[in-house]
Amino acid sequence: MDEGKLIVFSAPSGSGKTTIVRHLLRNPELKLDFSISATSRSPRENEVDGKDYYFLSLSDFKQKIKNDEFLEWEEVYRDNFYGTLKSEVERIWKEGKHVIFDIDVVGGLDIKNIYPERTLAVFVKPPSIEELKIRLKKRKTETDDKINMRVAKASIELATAPQFDFIIENKHLGTALKEAYNLVSEYVGAEKPSE
Ligand code: 5GP
Repeated sequence: MDEGKLIVFSAPSGSGKTTIVRHLLRNPELKLDFSISATSRSPRENEVDGKDYYFLSLSDFKQKIKNDEFLEWEEVYRDNFYGTLKSEVERIWKEGKHVIFDIDVVGGLDIKNIYPERTLAVFVKPPSIEELKIRLKKRKTETDDKINMRVAKASIELATAPQFDFIIENKHLGTALKEAYNLVSEYVGAEKPSE
């Protein structure tokens, strides 16, 4: 496709954006494929290299920055680098699909700035910072220290919400999923499947 689009979902960690992105990917009529980011953080127990992320060593990540292989990259947390490889977007557009991103707010706005005409940038807002903390604790993937770090960052991230094209408040997951589907479906011009 010559007019591949970019759909960005950004939010503070724990807002539910990954759940929303996974839901959208299960709808083939949207013709989406997930942009697999590169990261220097270690894999979590159930994560697969080349599926959830391309897991790189810190030095490999830095080498790719030097080689100008990233469309955008960010040191999201100290020594934890995340980035979108240019080759990833090319791969998906070649497949004739639109690229969907699950990335932090700075990266999301970078993508929007690089491709303003082809990007739908959506911010997923948690109902409150307190609720966010509860969700991160329930997830049990981070230590208390790391949770506090993510919560502290969330307040700063929330302030960027007005720069996005749309804000979805994830209070009731079912409603948030529907809202996300409708937004994306309209943006990519997908035909609704018959019920
Ligand atoms: P996690 O460690 O929970 O998988 O991700 C931490 C944060 O990094 C999340 O907000 C996630 O969306 C973000 N992130 C993941 N991939 C990228 C990327 O390619 N670029 C940027 N800028 N952030 C990313």
